[in-house]
Formats: sequence, structure tokens, C-alpha cells
Amino acid sequence: MEPEAVRRLCVVGAGTMGHQIAMLGALAGCATAVVDVSAEALERAQSSNRAHMARWVQRGRLTEADAERALGRLRWTTSLEDGARDAEFVIEAVIERLDDKRALFTRLDRIAPAPAILATNSSTIRSSLLAAATARPGQVCNMHFFNPPLVMELVEVVMHPETGEATAAAAMGLARQMGRTPVLLRREISGFVVNRILAAIMDEAVRLYEAGIASFEDIDVAVKKGLRHPMGPFELMDMNGIDIAYHVRMQRFGETGDPAQRPARSIVERYERGDYGRKTGRGWYTYPPPPSS
Ligand code: NAD
Repeated sequence: MEPEAVRRLCVVGAGTMGHQIAMLGALAGCATAVVDVSAEALERAQSSNRAHMARWVQRGRLTEADAERALGRLRWTTSLEDGARDAEFVIEAVIERLDDKRALFTRLDRIAPAPAILATNSSTIRSSLLAAATARPGQVCNMHFFNPPLVMELVEVVMHPETGEATAAAAMGLARQMGRTPVLLRREISGFVVNRILAAIMDEAVRLYEAGIASFEDIDVAVKKGLRHPMGPFELMDMNGIDIAYHVRMQRFGETGDPAQRPARSIVERYERGDYGRKTGRGWYTYPPPPSS
């Protein structure tokens, strides 16, 4: 049985992810409070959403009246009390720092109505760590949207050992209400599904390169033309940041103690040189990038 539609949503954090998740909520008919500690972040978020809706209207995806109605469902505030006090569902999308998120969940637990579900959009922090900061661990889960949320359809809903079935069903239901496609992970695991598979592809690509089997450029061509991926693994590493690839692997190595999880030599070399990819102008490729094949 589908859970009831969510009517009152609160999104905490109006950055890259939060403001678009809030827009999805408003488009799905939820009265949506958006909370951020920074008034400037709220202003940026508001104008970004207005610009997005204007483009959708221009392209005929939405009528002007529907866009205005959706934008009218958004309420912007720097007060967590104001934003969360009547929420049925809260999605947290603040900065990726465990202590900040823990403190926030403790406050949310005090402010949000007792039946409300508290979800985190974190890519790396397991929701069990946040659930432990509340008196409602059964009502906590990960709800992992992809960047940019208005475009990317997938949502990974991840249960921790105490997440209730009704909570998971409600998170799946809200993702569908927002027009997304949710998948359910019944156990928490770092990287969830997508980032683990992506990491495996990247690791194999680096192994083939380091073994001298093919150039990294040719491996990118092989993956794009043979698997129809829009980007090759090395292009993707440059886009996401080689520093991120390095830190993710160091974290995995720290967690498992398995030397096989250590970042590969060619990643470490680039990391140590500060060649992080697009953001530094040099990574695997030098930017502006060579014409794509
Ligand atoms: P961001 O830095 O763009 O935005 C974070 C926002 O949170 C900022 O506007 C900041 O002012 C606000 N904030 C910080 N502490 C706060 C608090 N205590 N209360 C209210 N607001 C607070 O970050 P982002 O890229 O949107 O990432 C947010 C979360 O989404 C992270 O947990 C991250 O793991 C996850 N995520 C990010 C991506 C991505 O590609 N950026 C993808 C999936 C998931």
C-alpha cells in the first residue's frame, strides 16, 4: 500500500542539493519550509529556483501558473524552530560534517512533531550515526539524491538496522511523489550502490592503465563507445576531483585496513602534485580538455 502523500516538508540546508530538493517537494505539492543558517544562501537558492522554473516554463514543461503555485509553496527561514515545527517529513542537506549533523538531528528531534521522519541526504554519513542522536531512531534513514536533484531521477533510500519499514516506505513514497525513481537498500553500506559501482569502474580503469594495457585516453574511449557511458572514468575523476577520489579511498582503507583499498599510485601522485582535475586546470587531462572523441 502506498503511504499517504506528504503535505508538509522541511528541507534543512539550501545549498547545491537542498534548494533543488525543496523545489522538487514544492512541485510535488508539499508546503515546503527551507531552512539555512545563512540568509545569503537562502537568497541564492530562491533566485536559482526562480530561474529554473522560468526555463521550464519557456521549454513548455510547466505552465506559468503551475510554476508560480510551486514557488509559492516554498517558505524560506533561518529559524529551524519555524521551519520544522509542523513538518511531516524533514530532509537534511547541510554541510558534510558529522558533528554538525548530529547536533542538528538532536535539535530536529526536539522540534519536529513526534511522527515526523528525519532523513539525511548525506553521501557518506550513515544514518545510524544520526539516529543515535535522536529518540526516534526508527524514523531515521538516508535519502540520497543525486546532483542536480531537479535533473537526476535516482534516489537511494537506505535503511539502518533500526529503520522501521513504515519509514522506508514513506521515504520511497516521497521520492515517487517528487517524480523520482527510488531504490531501497535494506542495509547501510558506505558508498551505497551507485558510488560503489562507480568506484569499482574507476579502480579497474586505473589498474588497466597502470598495468600498461592501454592509455587512459583510450580507456575513456572504450568505456564511452563500448558501454555508452556519457563520460570516461578518467574524465569523470577530473570532473569530480582527484582529491575526492583520493580521500574516498583513504577513508575506505581506514575503515577496512585492507591495503588493496589504498588509492592507486597514479592517483596519489596527482593528489600530491595538487593536480585535482578540472578545478586546478590539470588532472588526467589538461584543461581546456581535448575535443571529446
Ligand atoms: P553545500 O555546501 O552546497 O550546502 C550546504 C548548506 O548548508 C549551506 O548553504 C550552509 O549554509 C547550510 N548549513 C550548514 N550548516 C547548517 C545548519 N546547521 N543548519 C542549516 N543550514 C546549514 O552542500 P551540498 O553540496 O548541498 O551538500 C549537502 C549534503 O548533500 C551533504 O550531506 C552531501 O553529502 C550531500 N550530497 C551532496 C551531493 C553533491 O554532489 N553536492 C550529492 C549527493 C549528496
